[in-house]
Amino acid sequence: MWIRRRLDIGWTDIAWAWSRCLFPTAADEGARRRLEAAWAGESDAVACLSVRTGFDLLLRALALPPGSEVLMSALNVPGMFRIVEAHDLVPVPLDLGPSLSPSPEFVCDAITPRSRAIVVAHLFGARADLTAIRALAQEHGLLLIEDRAQAFDGLPVSLPDGSDAALYSFGTIKTATAFGGAMLTVRDQALAERIRSLERTLPPQTRWAYLARLLKYAGAKVLTGQRTYAALRKAFDWAGRDVDAWLQRVAAGFPAEQLLNAIRHRPSTPNVALMERRVQRFDPARANHQRQRGFRLAASLGHDFPVAGDPATHTFDLFPLRLGNPAAVQASLRKAGFDAIMRGSMTTAPCSKENPTTTSNAERLLDEILFLPLYPAMPDEELSRMASMVRESGEPPLPEKPWQ
Ligand SMILES: *Cc1c(COP(=O)(O)O)cnc(C)c1O
Repeated sequence: MWIRRRLDIGWTDIAWAWSRCLFPTAADEGARRRLEAAWAGESDAVACLSVRTGFDLLLRALALPPGSEVLMSALNVPGMFRIVEAHDLVPVPLDLGPSLSPSPEFVCDAITPRSRAIVVAHLFGARADLTAIRALAQEHGLLLIEDRAQAFDGLPVSLPDGSDAALYSFGTIKTATAFGGAMLTVRDQALAERIRSLERTLPPQTRWAYLARLLKYAGAKVLTGQRTYAALRKAFDWAGRDVDAWLQRVAAGFPAEQLLNAIRHRPSTPNVALMERRVQRFDPARANHQRQRGFRLAASLGHDFPVAGDPATHTFDLFPLRLGNPAAVQASLRKAGFDAIMRGSMTTAPCSKENPTTTSNAERLLDEILFLPLYPAMPDEELSRMASMVRESGEPPLPEKPWQ
């Protein structure tokens, strides 16, 4: 069974990180400085425990007046919305089109005198189009924050003109994972300094806690091989347990109930050292290879089975296929050994009475999308077999409903 996603890290890197936990060296202490200096060129970069940590620090440093509105792409991991609410700010959803970008009209409609910032997420590897949104942010004096948790494709990662901050994740299920860790890039140096000094007040993650994490995910890596994963699913079925719920919990990284306590830490030195190693050794040719395989898979599926997002600029970090009846296709793919999933860990933004904006397109995307497995370990023949399974599934085409 081809699991939905493999951990994007090899045993050499895992063993290296173990040794950094057990036998720390003086060179490790410089990892943060080197990584932050290599990261973003002109802008300032701060290494954090996670994107959610970086976002929390950013909001703390900004200290926006309570009740301020933060306009956000309507789809994201639940923690991002909860962090905004925890700062007494109001998340205002920006609904998405089939390209996965919020359309400029939605942004225009959502802006009020209380708006302070826009958070645009680049989802599933698709590039959100920011041209018009940048202009609107400038015109209305709003901060533009890019959530690039799913969009790392190699150094250098300079901050585009017109963006004020960007967040990149090296969490467990992300590209070039370091089993935790994130980079926050900020344009304003004074703001970066405030974030740094806030981060220094956080309790550190110990290297033992990080070692425990490494051991846990090494176990997960063993279980997600092609044969072991099939056995794992059988074992869960046999025990009457839900393997998908379990995987979701493992991938979330932090327990949802104590999210804020869990994220408010500084990353341990070995965690930052592994992040530096992953970033410095990242091979852009691999990202390119993934892009081309995704592009070919999209082409072999044809127009009746469109990918969410523009295939021309997609990194295919994930392969989000839009279908008329994804549950049925999922069932037939499972039988054929492909563990495609629906919804993943994304949710739509909470809508409140005060802001009557809708998230109906985002809900529709969550209902239509099936994420196909696509990673280097899968041979081309398997990708072709997967594509023909989808084409032959005899499922109804996508409804021609207009987008809101
Ligand atoms: C994974 C993810 C996050 C959270 O990243 P962490 O580093 O795990 O906090 C935020 N936004 C998006 C779009 C993500 O995919």
